[in-house]
Amino acid sequence: MLDEHAGVKGMTRELLPPSCIEGIVWPPAPSPRAATLLAMQFELEQSQWLPPADLRKRQFAQIAVLLRHAMASVPFHRERLAGLDPDRLDEAAWLRLPILERTDVQEHFEALKSSRLPPSHGRTLEYGSSGSSGRPIRVLGSEVTSFFWQVLSLRDHLWHRRDFAARHAAIRTKLERGRQAGWDLFAEVLPTGPMSLLGIHEDIDTQLDWLRAEAPSYLITHPSNLRALAKRSIEREIRLPELRETRTFGEMLRPDVRELCRQAWDVPVTDIYSAEEAGVIALQCPDYPHYHVQAENLLVEVLDPAGIPCRPGETGSIVVTTLHNFAMPLIRYRLRDFAVAGSACPCGRGLPVLERIVGRQRNMLVVPDGRRHWPSFPGELWVEACPAVRQFQLIQHTPERIEARVVVARAATKAEIEALRGMLIERFGYPFLIDFSFVDRIEPGPNCKYEDFVSHVAG
Ligand SMILES: [Zn+2]
Repeated sequence: MLDEHAGVKGMTRELLPPSCIEGIVWPPAPSPRAATLLAMQFELEQSQWLPPADLRKRQFAQIAVLLRHAMASVPFHRERLAGLDPDRLDEAAWLRLPILERTDVQEHFEALKSSRLPPSHGRTLEYGSSGSSGRPIRVLGSEVTSFFWQVLSLRDHLWHRRDFAARHAAIRTKLERGRQAGWDLFAEVLPTGPMSLLGIHEDIDTQLDWLRAEAPSYLITHPSNLRALAKRSIEREIRLPELRETRTFGEMLRPDVRELCRQAWDVPVTDIYSAEEAGVIALQCPDYPHYHVQAENLLVEVLDPAGIPCRPGETGSIVVTTLHNFAMPLIRYRLRDFAVAGSACPCGRGLPVLERIVGRQRNMLVVPDGRRHWPSFPGELWVEACPAVRQFQLIQHTPERIEARVVVARAATKAEIEALRGMLIERFGYPFLIDFSFVDRIEPGPNCKYEDFVSHVAG
């Protein structure tokens, strides 16, 4: 039940912080950390409704402070931004600032560090990216950047009106099977129900049996793992009656996953768009399946190949500026993701909209005639062409050649291989040379993420 009198709209009475003053249980006096978290949540509750122009003005006021800090204490930016006056930055001047590429961060890690992190930002923390596209990347943040990630994770729960008393389950990397007292990073300052944890390396049947035993109300995992769970659940007729919502992060969410979760358990999917280098970037709108950029924490640009901002409906590459990372300011940093720019959301929030995250650069098909797109290969098409197909993965090795790795229950006949070839060429929209490799199993990539299409040509 929602408590209209609670400090933050949508927050249930159960989420009120524990009191830090002995003998005072009501109204509770939150600890300084909980108070800061709640105060920021209150700010965000107001700022989300600001008109886009007002949000942008506030973002640029913050960016001016960030740029001054970067020019004074980060050698890389001091050199790159020389001559810039952060207080006289207009939209045109902003678009002329150079893009920080992933390779810049890999090659100039030392020069990108701030020599003077303000003491009130706390300790310096390191965030790594798995390097699923080759070379890993290291980025520094601070206790302040981590605080904002906690704030946004709480905002996600509030937006989606989750029941904080319920059991949550997480299946992801770097986890061992177990339980913890609270849901998230903020759980130590705000009480929630319990959280059940499982490593994503466990096989799908083990994961399903575990979910049945734990009976969580919410489940968070990677989209490809959720897809496999939903499919297996349908096959085994497992219902998970306690489950109310599934949540995804860390990979592109394909539309068929939403449909599969409806079919398997009759629950919605709520996605979070994040990157290891920048944290939470966009959250799904509470009322629509598109995403709201978390404009209070980052400036997000969707740019066409010429560096011009995309109009609603156009697809472009995502460039982020982290507003509060003073340990290693990421100024116009290009993530290797592409999204469709959205138009204003009917929900009334002024936070910019990303219509869809279309994919990562490494999952983009490059056609020799210059076209680029993100192909999808529904499992049904494979099984229709060859009923013995159990798993598949496509790898574009050169502009003309694609390897199809296939796990089959029995040897495929010549006719079936030709049917698969025909299906793939139709989906690709180009007569690629397709080499079939029949393998015993397809190992997931780093971070246990499974990708059905990977291009070594997309860069
Ligand atoms: Zn909205």
